[in-house]
Amino acid sequence: TPKTIPHPLNIAVAGTGYVGLVSGVCMAHRGHHVTCVDIDVKKVTMMQQGISPIYEQDLEELMHLNKERLTYTTDYKLAYKNADVIFIGVGTPELPDGSANLAYIATVARQIAETVERDCLVVVKSTVPVGTNDKVEQFIKDFLPTDSENEILGKNSKIKIEVASNPEFLAQGTAVRDTLEAARIIIGTDSIIAKETLIKVYEPFGLPIVSVSRRSAEMIKYAANDFLALKISYMNDIANLCELVGADIQDVAKGMGFDGRIGDKFLNAGIGYGGSCFPKDTKALDYLAKQNGYELRTVKAAIAVNKDQKVLLYKKACKRLITFNGLKVAVLGLAFKPGTDDLREAPSLENVPLLLAQGADIYAYDPVAMDNFRKIFPETGTESKGEQGKGSIKYVESVEEAIQGANVCFVLTEWGEIKAVKPEDYKRLMRTPLVYDGRNIYAVEDMKESGVEYYSIGRKKFV
Ligand code: NAD
Repeated sequence: TPKTIPHPLNIAVAGTGYVGLVSGVCMAHRGHHVTCVDIDVKKVTMMQQGISPIYEQDLEELMHLNKERLTYTTDYKLAYKNADVIFIGVGTPELPDGSANLAYIATVARQIAETVERDCLVVVKSTVPVGTNDKVEQFIKDFLPTDSENEILGKNSKIKIEVASNPEFLAQGTAVRDTLEAARIIIGTDSIIAKETLIKVYEPFGLPIVSVSRRSAEMIKYAANDFLALKISYMNDIANLCELVGADIQDVAKGMGFDGRIGDKFLNAGIGYGGSCFPKDTKALDYLAKQNGYELRTVKAAIAVNKDQKVLLYKKACKRLITFNGLKVAVLGLAFKPGTDDLREAPSLENVPLLLAQGADIYAYDPVAMDNFRKIFPETGTESKGEQGKGSIKYVESVEEAIQGANVCFVLTEWGEIKAVKPEDYKRLMRTPLVYDGRNIYAVEDMKESGVEYYSIGRKKFV
């Protein structure tokens, strides 16, 4: 007889990062009881006070709205022992060889095995290489107390734990909306009960569900993400050629986008992709291919193009300026994209140290990511006074403050308020109006008319 699945479900989520917390809060918003677990005491204390530890639009409001159904704890035992479903949303960062670090997943799997007191479904939401769900299942089996141990521990000896894959496709900056209005939910399992349980989790969302095998689900995540990375690198590659042959990448993208087979989204050329996903997921898939004796040439090319793209403008500026020593350099935008405070793999992390090494005096501005950036590059306070290799960095409270008196400006993130800067403001406020725009956010003609020397990606050169 099929077991009845309770509703609402008692859900635990391991990891309260961009994926774990947003998923947990959205599942509570759809009526489930959710316990969010993290090992980071600071994060948990913040959440218990109703504060989101990450910047994500609407998240804090939803935390507040659903507080009756949300619990935050560092005590995983409390969260896992009676859960119907446990989602794993911990990080799977890149190891030096490009493979995914599965240590955090393994820790959670062990904690689950040591803790659960009744049947439950474990759902891997983190992005993991194909075959990882099999390993998690085996790992949990290995760690589940044996019958004799159970007797000693007084535990139920017949605990059955299923493992299913449910990759996440949210994008930072729009994570809440992406979760509540996801294009599709991927459920990866061959077990009927696991599938039915996951359908119960997602039923209240009213979204399309695609049910596949565990391995296909794991592959869908990488294939989808790497396709997007490829799309970006392809457009950047074409953009670089556009510059050489006198075409304009924005016009080219517009013309391409009308073709339904191509689509009009994700065709923006720029300073390269960053973030916690595209860089690591391209490398992890490349690694998986290599492990299986296959060379994934397309993805390899996307990685190579992106590496160069991130420092393209810096290199251009080096040629134009000869030296940054003692120059005041405005850096507008530090986050890897607008709408987030996340800096992982952000182009700013590559360009700022290069500029500092050249003796630049940086005035940096970002509406939300400055505190995180300051932790990596503490404010130096004093200016370099032209000493080679001893640049300085200062954080300022507005775009105007950053560009005031600057010799050169780099635009690294297309935040709304940076887009809103008028070309004449650069002309009026900078000492020498020289702008390198990594996000193509201004019209070349407008900059030209305002007398700004303007360089962007794949567009007409203006001198
Ligand atoms: P994150 O680094 O923001 O969060 C991970 C959290 O897990 C941290 O708060 C950490 O303290 C916590 N943690 C570590 N070990 C733990 C344990 N044993 N128990 C409980 N908590 C633990 O990561 P993220 O960006 O949310 O990404 C998580 C996963 O989701 C990754 O595999 C990533 O590839 C994938 N993903 C991320 C995004 C995204 O946009 N960030 C989108 C889709 C998929």
